Amino acid sequence: MAGKSGLNLTKDEDLPAFINQYGTASDWLGPMITRFGPQQVQDWAKSHGQRVFTGSSGRVFPVAMKASPLLRHWLNALAADGVELRRRWRWQGFSDRGFVFGTPEGPVTVRTGRCVLALGGASWARLGSDGAWVPWLAEKGVEIAPFQPSNMGFAVPWSRAMAPHIGMPIKSIALRAGELTSRGEITLSAQGLEGGGLYPLSSRLREGAALSIDLFPDLAEAAVMTRLCGARKSESTTNKLRKALKLSGARLALFLEFARPVPREPAALARLCKALPVRLGPPSPMDHAISVAGGIRQNAVDQGLMLKALPGVFVAGEMLDWDAPTGGYLLTACLATGMHAGRSAAAWDGGCL
Ligand SMILES: Cc1cc2nc3c(=O)[nH]c(=O)nc-3n(C[C@H](O)[C@H](O)[C@H](O)COP(=O)(O)OP(=O)(O)OC[C@H]3O[C@@H](n4cnc5c(N)ncnc54)[C@H](O)[C@@H]3O)c2cc1C
Repeated sequence: MAGKSGLNLTKDEDLPAFINQYGTASDWLGPMITRFGPQQVQDWAKSHGQRVFTGSSGRVFPVAMKASPLLRHWLNALAADGVELRRRWRWQGFSDRGFVFGTPEGPVTVRTGRCVLALGGASWARLGSDGAWVPWLAEKGVEIAPFQPSNMGFAVPWSRAMAPHIGMPIKSIALRAGELTSRGEITLSAQGLEGGGLYPLSSRLREGAALSIDLFPDLAEAAVMTRLCGARKSESTTNKLRKALKLSGARLALFLEFARPVPREPAALARLCKALPVRLGPPSPMDHAISVAGGIRQNAVDQGLMLKALPGVFVAGEMLDWDAPTGGYLLTACLATGMHAGRSAAAWDGGCL
């Protein structure tokens, strides 16, 4: 699913800047990402036969764009290393005798000295990441911060005028929420707004910050006004926007949707073009979010990502309580924590790490 619109594996940027993107979890994840970060992720993808390229924003993708060739190669390599995959086994919790699985052959209980759990967060349940594990670990005393959607869209109660524009992208804009700015693109969906330009602001917006859109991020407000002043006075406002600013289609519809009542004065129009206030509804449901915030708290694991409440059980990926914007930071942290948990589990001798 992550490869459907381009598998953004990582970001080619300075390690300190990269690690900074994990916010309050930077100190925690930093050492793991230093060991397995942007460069190692690219090397790993190449070791699985994938040529990679860096886009203009620094985002790194496999040339194939999709996840499937990388995944196929990786699975073959694991099989060649002797890894046995038990597909369609579903962990269903603990019994007195161990981990209970639902399998095509019926329930099976597995006892193990050590294991790594990488069960994901709680978005896209239809792909299996349903967060069902939360109560099973919480009952064992593992501290888990409630999940919240992250990198998600927001509902917008569109007027009827927007119907012809649903599904259209709005490109090359800047979005602002509080002190944060993001440049990129958004898509007008039937439910509201989605897209890579919006996701980096989603945590701030979830906390209640107001969203505004700059439709002309490369033009100063004065320049926008000068262009509008050059339009014929007799023109309607919509025509001035069309002719002087080349606003048309979905871009113009979005402007008119949020600029209502649309002012006539060039100064007020220019101000709105540079900071269009967008009235957002609630965040999209967690199940449609790209990722989740929340999960197993840092103080519930030791330095090797072993659960303090369940010695021998290691955890990795989105199960852990960290959050990051899109841009390759999500997969990189999942791979880095997976590598760390796996190495720790392999080195664990039954004592404390
Ligand atoms: C549409 C979309 C696009 C994305 N694009 C990108 C991108 O381009 N770049 C990026 O960095 N990130 C992207 N992400 C985010 C990224 O995919 C996730 O952060 C990452 O996959 C999380 O990895 P994980 O291993 O922790 O969990 P998951 O990938 O969710 O894997 C968890 C696995 O555990 C299984 N599981 C769960 N519970 C059980 C159980 N009880 N028993 C057995 N198995 C179980 C699930 O079936 C699943 O296979 C995208 C996400 C989405 C939804």
